[in-house]
Amino acid sequence: MKLYNIKDHSETVSFSQAVQQGLGRGQGLFFPESLPYFDDIEALLAMPLVARSSKILSALIGDELPISQVSELVSNAFSFAAPLEQVDDHIHALELFHGPTLAFKDFGGRFMAQSLAAVSDGKKITILTATSGDTGAAVAHAFYGIDNIDVVILYPKGKISPLQEKLFCTLGGNIHTVAINGTFDDCQSMVKQAFDDSELRQAIGLNSANSINISRLMAQICYYFEAVAQLPAHKRDQVVISVPSGNFGNLTAGLLAKAMGLPIKRFIAGTNANDTVPRYLDSGEWAPQQTVATLSNAMDVSQPNNWPRIEELFRREQWRLSELASGRADDEETAESLKSLSQAGYLCEPHGAIAYRLLAEQLEEGEEGIFLCTAHPAKFKESVDAILGKDIPLPGPLAKHAQMTLLSREQEPDFQTLRDYLLEVNG
Ligand SMILES: *Cc1c(COP(=O)(O)O)cnc(C)c1O
Repeated sequence: MKLYNIKDHSETVSFSQAVQQGLGRGQGLFFPESLPYFDDIEALLAMPLVARSSKILSALIGDELPISQVSELVSNAFSFAAPLEQVDDHIHALELFHGPTLAFKDFGGRFMAQSLAAVSDGKKITILTATSGDTGAAVAHAFYGIDNIDVVILYPKGKISPLQEKLFCTLGGNIHTVAINGTFDDCQSMVKQAFDDSELRQAIGLNSANSINISRLMAQICYYFEAVAQLPAHKRDQVVISVPSGNFGNLTAGLLAKAMGLPIKRFIAGTNANDTVPRYLDSGEWAPQQTVATLSNAMDVSQPNNWPRIEELFRREQWRLSELASGRADDEETAESLKSLSQAGYLCEPHGAIAYRLLAEQLEEGEEGIFLCTAHPAKFKESVDAILGKDIPLPGPLAKHAQMTLLSREQEPDFQTLRDYLLEVNG
């Protein structure tokens, strides 16, 4: 697999380099030089998830990894299902939240962890990251138990929800969590200092396992095929997919699936009040505004970092941006849609509810709609309970972690203390 830096096409890397480096020169994103195209889609859709996904990813990766190894990575990463649930006559929910941290980020995170371990040839790696909640859990669970990789996660003590803390600070093994007596900014600034310290970086093989890593998007391509595969064959030729979007990685993966031959008629890019992209598609003007807090807080992003990849794909495929549908929903509309879903017998959460709303508004006669459910309703229990007047139960994994002992160490926001600790973890 060959990839180039979108900002400087003369910088090209292999899959292995792209996975290890994350970003190219000048913070440029990597993008595949060519995409495989599947002519016989029906045969591909007839395969089970792991076998099909191995075939898709192996076609992308090429001869850098044998297909047997790709299959092993995929079966380790995709250890849970992505069921398609019927919500009404022509609308289906693709549930991407059945992984260990109950959010779709488990797909990308777990495949990235597997890929990084596979391409680093047993070199010791230390992943260092700061979290204000969700990313910590996804990274911790994705890398848990992987040989030669240690993960150190910093978070502000007392400033994340107790349940969230339990979800990733109870694993132990190669997952090291540090509660910092400070703010999230203190945590982030210590992470930055560590990456600026080239001696330390070398000594412990420091890596960020960045959210922009191409391996994440590659994994996410696979569940779009899985969604269509679960539709009856006669409903597969007019499919519209609605994607709740923040940094637009999820939508990028869907568009890549389409470019690889998956028959999708149209995508709808849905946002909350942070609507830089819908406004851009309407007016042609890229005008990010101050980010505002919403019910769908994983989408509170006003400068989506994957957008350049979408523009690059449209340019390459000679698609027009006007073919990309979009829309926004504010908190009031989100709550309204969450209620109507609940009345229809489907329990959702704010991110999925936005995607549902835009799909229901824009779906036309003869089309079959799918909206992506990116998180388990219990992950947003507070707002879901308040809006629906319910007390939704904690699902198994969350309930299990809630009973476990916290293993975090506590530390002042002091870089030297962290540096000593990182060397100790690695030694
Ligand atoms: C990250 C996230 C999103 C946004 O996905 P992008 O790929 O950043 O567009 C949507 N919903 C949930 C629950 C998320 O965690």
